[in-house]
Amino acid sequence: MKARIGLEIHVQLSEAGTKLFCDCDSEYRRYPPNRNVCPVCLGLPGALPVPGRRPLALALAAAKAFNCRIPEWIVFTRKHYFYPDLPKNYQITQFEKVGGAPVCLGGYVEFLNTDTWEWVRVGIRRINLEEDPGRTYYEGDIMTSRYAHVDFNRSGVPLLEIVTEPEVRSPREARLLVEYILLTLEYIGATNPRLEGVFRVDANVSVEGGERVEIKNIGSTLDVEKALRYEIKRQAMVLERGGRVERETRHWDAERGVTKPLRYKEEEAEYLYFPDPDLPPVKVTGDLLAEAEKLASRSPRMIYEAVESLGVRREVAWSIVSSPPAAERFLEAVKLGGDPQVLARMIGVDYKGELRERGLDPNDPSRWPPAETLAQLSKLVSSGEYTYDSIRGLVLPKLAENPGADVKSVLPEKVSDVDALVEEVLRREVKAVKDYLSGKEKALNYLVGAVMRAARGRALDPREARRKLLERLKAMKEG
Ligand SMILES: [Zn+2]
Repeated sequence: MKARIGLEIHVQLSEAGTKLFCDCDSEYRRYPPNRNVCPVCLGLPGALPVPGRRPLALALAAAKAFNCRIPEWIVFTRKHYFYPDLPKNYQITQFEKVGGAPVCLGGYVEFLNTDTWEWVRVGIRRINLEEDPGRTYYEGDIMTSRYAHVDFNRSGVPLLEIVTEPEVRSPREARLLVEYILLTLEYIGATNPRLEGVFRVDANVSVEGGERVEIKNIGSTLDVEKALRYEIKRQAMVLERGGRVERETRHWDAERGVTKPLRYKEEEAEYLYFPDPDLPPVKVTGDLLAEAEKLASRSPRMIYEAVESLGVRREVAWSIVSSPPAAERFLEAVKLGGDPQVLARMIGVDYKGELRERGLDPNDPSRWPPAETLAQLSKLVSSGEYTYDSIRGLVLPKLAENPGADVKSVLPEKVSDVDALVEEVLRREVKAVKDYLSGKEKALNYLVGAVMRAARGRALDPREARRKLLERLKAMKEG
């Protein structure tokens, strides 16, 4: 079933350092409730908001990264509604229709569809910079909870609202697009997409012959795909039965995997928007633009193309690009003289795999050894001093435990007495030797394995073990 999908992606600028209009911390999760607050983000009378430089620069960097037209002046507007976690009774946002000016007046994103390996273009309608409200939570169920708890730590955190044109072709592409946008923002240094609740997605979807339905509050990229698949199927069934798909807003219930109708929807007029008189328009100066341009200078696409141009397979190249610390170290280690093929395998496949196996985050820079270490290991493989397998099996696990470790301290001891090991194995493995001598050539592999096991964590090139075994077996045959 053909569908038209448009997305609204809300992303906190968690790495901005400050909230949008005060100096409180943009990463509020590390504080006990109501400890990351000040008169501005509590909306106390007389407190005046002042736009922070870093959140502005990051928002403009996002606009640059998504090829946007950027206005000369940025204008903030008030959006009024009443809720316990919104202390001013209005949210500061950028609403164009009432004279607001968002940070992006239209642009586009080109993301990699990693199923077809095509770059797909989707229009960006606009990007708003706004403040996140606080948080209200309950003890268990909202209806039975004795209290509504309000925590203002999040109040005022800078939030980007990225609105795409309804040009996304499938639920799968919607997911890949959101992932690509988040990765781009991670490269800019604007957000950490793995923080709990750092982004949420609303999706508009319509099928042929039906009205547009909005799905609210999708909290993960996997759920973007699931919610859209469900909703397209639901709409198709309604039409098949001769019904009509009404224009409505639905809520994604991730636990049950269904969308449910929301009881009401406010009209835009009900919000009583107007330009915020406390905030004079912000001039987008050359300085600010230069800072934004610098932040946006590394895009996933640019890095992907750089990695691929070194002869790295596209799947591995994408694996490297999707972890910014991995990409940074890969490019740096190549500059230091490491071999791109060896490094790609080490960084994009095996070291990342080691981290995953330990439940560690491959996008956390502190989990990665310095590029220098990786370049040294690559050179030891290229020079033939160690096999790739011995680095992978004996060194990478140690680095995953302790990424700062010195190369010398993690390099395995080398087997110096290969002959003795071979003798020991030939003596012990009587049956395998007999099999081999009677023509069962497969027994050789078993014997090589036995020698490797006998090395007990020391480095040994299996080719050398094989060569020595063959020499001795040949002598035995002839003798
Ligand atoms: Zn504050």
